This record gives sequence, structure tokens and C-alpha cells, in this order.
Amino acid sequence: MKSKLAILGGNSIRTKDFPNRKSMGEEEIEAATRVLKSDVLSGFIGAAGKYFNGGKEVIEFETLWADSYNFKHAISVNSWTSGLQVAVGAIGLEPGDEVICSPYSMSASATVAFMYGGIPVFADLETDTYGLDPKSVENRITPRTKAIIVVHIFGYPSNMDSIMKIAKKHNLKVIEDAAQAPGVYYKGKPIGTIGDIGGFSLNFHKHIHTGEGGLLVTNSDKIALRCQLIRNHGENAIEAYQLKDISNTIGGNYRYTELQAAIAIEQFKKLQAILDHRKVVGAFLSSRLREIEGLNIQKIEKGCTHSYYMYPIRYDKNIFGVSRNLFLRAVSAELPKPKYWDTTPITEGYVKPLYLNPIYQNQIAIGKKGFPFNLNKQVKYDYSKGICPVTEKLYEEELLLSPLVREGMKKEDIKDFADAIEKVVENISDLRDSNLSNDPSQDVYDAIKAIDENV
Ligand SMILES: *Cc1c(COP(=O)(O)O)cnc(C)c1O
Repeated sequence: MKSKLAILGGNSIRTKDFPNRKSMGEEEIEAATRVLKSDVLSGFIGAAGKYFNGGKEVIEFETLWADSYNFKHAISVNSWTSGLQVAVGAIGLEPGDEVICSPYSMSASATVAFMYGGIPVFADLETDTYGLDPKSVENRITPRTKAIIVVHIFGYPSNMDSIMKIAKKHNLKVIEDAAQAPGVYYKGKPIGTIGDIGGFSLNFHKHIHTGEGGLLVTNSDKIALRCQLIRNHGENAIEAYQLKDISNTIGGNYRYTELQAAIAIEQFKKLQAILDHRKVVGAFLSSRLREIEGLNIQKIEKGCTHSYYMYPIRYDKNIFGVSRNLFLRAVSAELPKPKYWDTTPITEGYVKPLYLNPIYQNQIAIGKKGFPFNLNKQVKYDYSKGICPVTEKLYEEELLLSPLVREGMKKEDIKDFADAIEKVVENISDLRDSNLSNDPSQDVYDAIKAIDENV
């Protein structure tokens, strides 16, 4: 249908704000109040014994999550960044070991390797899952490779069958970063324990949260114990556990509080309903976008689920003849200006490929002498632009992300979003013929910057 685009002075599709996310209910308030009244805000003691693994709420929360997915062990931590660091230690990383990482994730999915003297090596992505491309992973393997950190980015599982096959063949450990994918399944199996260890984030932006927090899961008794040691001053407990191999058991304080755990129990009870709602809303959006040439949406494989932490769309500028940024600005102009990240309709690019960050560019991580890169003197690590072309193209030209597939959003709201996209697509020639800039550095509005900083 021909109509004047809002960015060219026409009427917009919608002016009413999108509904905000509301995450805390009476249940959480009651749980928090109960713990406050008990006066026991943390149940941990930093020495072996009854309280080494936390208090009543912490144990109950871990048990609840583990039992729901048949995970043998769940270990809560104060953030998923802490969890990833604990996981890297628990699998026995040695200084100088290489860890194959995704370049397109929250920075911690790679930097945690440094904490044990490991060196992140980046493999490229496949565009159907946005997870690690098994072929690229295999190309990056050297005699020094110890582990792969797989990220189930945006809430869709990575290609675990192929990754696990490669890991077995080369005797590598696999860590699953499922921060964005709680309760997600890969070919019928819950993600998190398909690899050796995995886990979830409970930070404010995730599906369920306690402000900050994280949860490790594993089916290995040995790895679970090592996680518990690293979480809580393990050096004080190794004798009590009669541990022979005491390497990597120096602990931090990554403990989760009783207050957070009590809230987390109530949050967890809501997880499946959140996922069910996102599935309905996500499927509706997909049904609207599927037929549009030039917008590529994710295909959900049989037995796999999507948590829609973000709804990803791959934009083909050759079909539309305008830059992704101009398309994004035109869609955004059809919709209310967001007041906060959760009502931002659409954003572009996700994060800069991680290897382009200064730590990798300068190979300065711990101290000033180049540790740990300098542990393998014979190796020249390459973090130059061009090493992951698929990722760079996603970042620079292709990827659009929407955080609107979430609780609080109804089909009518998603319909407006889809209508806005459709209107821009139908009138793309007006956009092409306009004198609006295709310059990718044009700001849509400040909120879009906010989402990049916050997610
Ligand atoms: C959120 C997130 C993290 C970090 O989790 P925190 O709990 O904020 O420390 C790591 N990886 C991915 C993919 C994330 O989305």
C-alpha cells in the first residue's frame, strides 16, 4: 500500500508508547520481606562445613532449577560473569591454554579465559544460529586449544551436535554460555549440560532476574565440586574435601545471597510462562516477516526452542537499496520514541566484534608485559580486522535486533511493529529517492545507544 513514510513527513503507524516490562510481583516482594525479617541475608561461611554451600534459600533455588531440567548440579553465583570465570577454572584451564570463543557476545564470554592465563581465540559465526561455525572452530584448533565457549546468543541454541563432535575428536572441554537462553532446548535436550558445564545470567536485563546473579549447571560431580570451591574461598576447604589435585581451587567470593535466592525462586516459577508468551509473540512476528524479501528471519529447527532474548533479523541492503541504518531510522520514525531500552523497537549491529577491542588489539590483558599472550612466544596471535568476515558483516551491515518479543507485549503491539516494517518495505522506493543520508553513523535516537550499553 502506498502511503507517505513518517520519516518523510507522513503520519506514523503508532504514537502510543509500547508497554514496559514489569518483572517483579507481589510474590517476590513477599519472599524478600520474609528473608529480611529472618535477618539472615546470606547463609554462606567461607570454610568447609554445613554452610560452605550457602543457606536454605540458595540450596532451594539451586535444587528447584536443577530438578526442573534434570541437571545433576546447579551452583548459584553472584553474576554470570563470575559463573563463566568459575567454569573456566573448574575445567582446569592452564596458563597458555587457548580457548575458542565467539566474537559476537557480551565481552565476558571471552575475557574470562584471561583470569586463568588462557588466551581467547575467535572463530567466526554461522548466520542461521548466530552461534560458532563448526568449520571455523575446527580451523582455529591448535595443540594448545583446551576449551570452546559456546554462546547461545539471542536465545537460540548453537549447533551443538557439530561442536560436541569436534570437541570429542580433539579432547576439548565445552562451556555453554546460556545467559540469554534459560529453559531453551536443543534437539529435545535442555541446553546448559550438553557441554561439560554451562549456565545462565540473572542480571536485570535477562528473562528472569534478581538484579544481578547467575547459575552454573553441570552433570559432572568433579566439576561441580570445583565450582563450589572457587565460589567460596576454596583454599580453606581443600583439606576437608581431601582433594588431590588442588590446582585452580583458589576461591573468590562469588556467593549468592539468601535475599536474591528467595527472589530467584519466585522468578524461576514464572520462567516457563515467560518463554511460552515469547514463543507466541515471536511466532506471530515471524509470520508477518517471513514473506518479506530482504529480511531474513531465523528458522527454528525441530526439537529446538528460542527464548527471544532478542529477535534477530538479517537485513539485505542489496534488495532494498538503502543502508540498514536508514531503514532502521524509517521504521523507528513510524513508532513512538522509546523512553527506555525495553521499549526500543529495533536496534542495529549488536556489539563490535570482540577482537577489535583494545585488549586484543594491543595484546595487553594482565599486567603490562603482554600476559598471557606472551606465554606462547612462538605464536603470533592475530586479532586483525577481517579474521571473522561473517561476524563483521553482521555488525556492519546486516543485523537488526528487536527486544520487543517479550512479556508485557501483546499481539496488537507486535502488529504495529510489523506494520511499521511492512510500510517501510512497501514504500522503500520513496526512501531510496529521498535525499536522506545513508551514512551508518546517523543516530536514531539516544535510547538506541542506551540499549547497546545496557544489554
Ligand atoms: C548477560 C550476559 C553475560 C554476563 O552475565 P552477567 O550476569 O551480567 O555477568 C554473559 N554472556 C552473555 C551472552 C550475556 O548475555
